[in-house]
Amino acid sequence: MVSGSRHLIEVDGIRVLVDCGLFQGEKHVRERNWQRFAVAANTIHAVVLTHGHIDHSGWLPRLVREGFSGPIYTSPATSDLLGLLLYDSAKCQEEDARYANRKGYSKHHPALAIYDQHDVDQTLRLVKAVPREEWFQPGVGLRCRFHEAGHMLGSSFIEVEVATQGRTTRLIFSGDIGRYDAPLYNDPLAPPACDYLVCESTYGDRNHPQSHPLDELEAAVGESVARGGMMLVASFAIGRCQQLIYLLRTLMAAGRIPELPVWVDSPMAVAAIGVFEKHAAEHDFAEAKMFGVAAALRAPWVRMVRTADESKAMNTQQGPGIIIASSGMMNGGRILHHLVQRLPDSRTTVLVAGFQAIGTRGRSLIDGAKFLRIHGRDIPVKAAVRRIDALSGHADREEIGRWLAGMPAPKRTFLVHGEPPAARGMADFLRETRGWDVHCAAIGESFNIDG
Ligand SMILES: [Zn+2]
Repeated sequence: MVSGSRHLIEVDGIRVLVDCGLFQGEKHVRERNWQRFAVAANTIHAVVLTHGHIDHSGWLPRLVREGFSGPIYTSPATSDLLGLLLYDSAKCQEEDARYANRKGYSKHHPALAIYDQHDVDQTLRLVKAVPREEWFQPGVGLRCRFHEAGHMLGSSFIEVEVATQGRTTRLIFSGDIGRYDAPLYNDPLAPPACDYLVCESTYGDRNHPQSHPLDELEAAVGESVARGGMMLVASFAIGRCQQLIYLLRTLMAAGRIPELPVWVDSPMAVAAIGVFEKHAAEHDFAEAKMFGVAAALRAPWVRMVRTADESKAMNTQQGPGIIIASSGMMNGGRILHHLVQRLPDSRTTVLVAGFQAIGTRGRSLIDGAKFLRIHGRDIPVKAAVRRIDALSGHADREEIGRWLAGMPAPKRTFLVHGEPPAARGMADFLRETRGWDVHCAAIGESFNIDG
C-alpha cells in the first residue's frame, strides 16, 4: 500500500530500519498503527529516512515511545522539515483521540493518541543530518549514502552497502521517486548498480498525462475565475503547497491568469516556506527568471493565514480567489471547514492535486461522490471537482523506467509502496521491458538475500 513504509535490514544482528511511516487511509489500515512493531523497538540500531512525508516518517515518535533510542539519519533539509511534520502529526493524533472520546466511538477507553508532542521532542533529539553523496555508517558492516530523489525538498533514495564475510552486497531503497522536469524540483539522480532494489510503485500501472502542470493549472484557474467562486486546493502543506505558489507566481508574472488573492491556510505551510528558502540551492527555479528566486515563494497576493480564527473568518470571503489548505487527501486539517462551507456552492471549484488513497475524502470526490461526510454531516457536492495529475510528486511507470534505464538487472527487485494493481502493473512492466526478476512484496514478508 502507499502508506506505512518501513523496511528492516538485518545483518549479523545489526538492525537498521529504512523509513518508519504512519499507516493512513481506511480504518483497517490505520489500525495497524496500534500494532507492535515486527521486532522490539529497542533492538533496532538506527533508522535511515528517505524523506519527511508522514507515510515514511510518521511512526517514528511511536517507535521512540516503544523504546528506540538510536540515531535517525536523514538529509539536512529533511531534518529541518521533520519537526514541522511530526509536531503537526502529533497534534492530529491528539485531536483524533479527543474527538473519539467525545463521540465515544473508540475501541480503546479512553481513546489514546498514538503519540504526542513529548514523543516528538524525544524523536527530534535523535536526528542526525548527513548531506547527500556522503557515506555514513548506521551500524557495523553497513554503510549508506543519500542521493537526490527529486520528490520533495530533502527527498533521497538510499544506497546501502553491506559487507559481510568478505562479500559486499549493494541495495537501493527508492523511497519515493519524483518526476522529470517538474517545476521547482531537480530530476531524480540515476541510481548506481545494485544487487537488490526495493522500489516504489505508486503509479506503476499508469502514466501521467503529457500536459505541463503550468498549462493544467492555467486552465483550472481560468475555469474557476469564470465560475466566479473560490477555488479550494487541498494540498500537502509541505512540498505541493510551495510548488503551487511557485506555479501561480509564474502564471501571474506571465499574465496567463489574473492576479488573484491566494490564501495559504496552514501554519505548517507558512513555516515550511522559510525552510524552502534556506535550502533554495536544492531547487530548480528555471521558471523564475521573471521575478527572481528570492521572490519565488512570496508575493504581495499571497496571504498567510496563521490562526484558526483567521481561517474561520475566511468563510465570508467571496471569490474569485484561491485557498490552499491541508490535508492533501482531505482526511483532516483546515480544508475540512472550507469544504463544509463551499462544497454546496456551485460557483466553487475544488482542485485535487495529488495521489488520493482509497478511503480518503479526496478519493471519494474524484470518484464523483454526491455527498461528502465531514464532522458527522453529509455535505452535498455542488462544486466542480478538477484534478491536476501533472502535479503529482511521484514518477509514473515510464518515469520509473527512465530512472532505472541505466541500471543493470539487479538479482531481484522488490516492489513496495503501491496499491496491488499498481504494483502488479509495475512488475509486469519491468518483466516485459527489462526481463527482471520482480516480486511484489506483502506486509510482513522477509527475505534472506545472503549472497
Ligand atoms: Zn513521499
